[in-house]
Amino acid sequence: MNRALEEAAKKLQEAASVVITIHTQPDGDALGGLLAMSRYLRKAGKKTCPTWGEEIRIPTHYRWLPGIDEIVDFSHCNGADVLITLDCANEHRLGLMEDRMIKFKTIINIDHHVDNSGFGTINVLDFNAGATCEIVYKLLKLMQADIDSDMATQLYTGIVTDTGRFQYQNTTSETLRIAADLVDLGAVPNLVFEKVYENVSFASLQLLALVLERAEFVKNTGLFYSYILDSDLKETGASMADSEVFIDYLRAAKEANVVAIFKETLEGKLRISLRSKGTIDVGTIARMGGGGGHRNAAGVTLDKTIDEAVDWINNRISTQKTAPTAG
Ligand code: 5GP
Ligand code: MN
Repeated sequence: MNRALEEAAKKLQEAASVVITIHTQPDGDALGGLLAMSRYLRKAGKKTCPTWGEEIRIPTHYRWLPGIDEIVDFSHCNGADVLITLDCANEHRLGLMEDRMIKFKTIINIDHHVDNSGFGTINVLDFNAGATCEIVYKLLKLMQADIDSDMATQLYTGIVTDTGRFQYQNTTSETLRIAADLVDLGAVPNLVFEKVYENVSFASLQLLALVLERAEFVKNTGLFYSYILDSDLKETGASMADSEVFIDYLRAAKEANVVAIFKETLEGKLRISLRSKGTIDVGTIARMGGGGGHRNAAGVTLDKTIDEAVDWINNRISTQKTAPTAG
């Protein structure tokens, strides 16, 4: 990774104008990296355009992030020398930005997903990083950036959220060292915690109540799952984006081996968030349906009913269980 990191640093130092993008339905890692990268480049005198490839809707629990109002629709981005993609395993994760990639001579793909397709002209990949924000931190250090408290807060938020508050298996000693540095640089852990995890609307708590009430457990595979229908959003007034952390509540069940939340999309498909607490590799399962992700956290969209999707996942868990070397 070090050579790619150096190449990326050089390109960015030469660039006058940079578009930065992230995956659709962005999470804290994507948003934190986007904002920190943009802030650094602007302070270095460059024009930046932080965006992503769908209608820009910021989840409530990230609206407080410094610089969040600077994110714009791509129609406001003028020509640029370089495109940076953050936290995107492949081109399809870019949404509408996928087709716009050809406009850029240099594409710097910065990511930590094991299945990254290497679609950039420069690929800065670190599969051991707990979050893309860890890699952004290293890039900024290499560029001798003066990481201010806003940038520290943005990056720290990305790391906290992608590592499940430093509890998932992707948390390494390096994750914690980088986080410690970011705290020294001005990130305030309790403040980030309150803003991200204790900032939910009453409506989203009502939605959570529904999700917990409906949760089902499949004993022979250890799958614990629940679902959110489009009609639930109308009924409670909550938004789908506010449900990002719900899966953590399901994870808490000691019986759970694999956890899934099924979310009905506007196109009538099922967007599925998957988490594994044990040996099951949910990244492999998600890839079988055209999705992707990490061993312990992954996502996939299926054109199936909830019952069909439950069967689909159970079958794949059973296959992995009986063939422990698979995946
Ligand atoms: P989440 O359940 O939070 O949406 O996603 C969990 C993890 O899987 C994240 O790291 C996310 O980047 C990845 N992921 C989710 N959906 C997809 C998908 O459709 N394709 C790929 N390649 N990765 C996904
Ligand atoms: Mn990530």
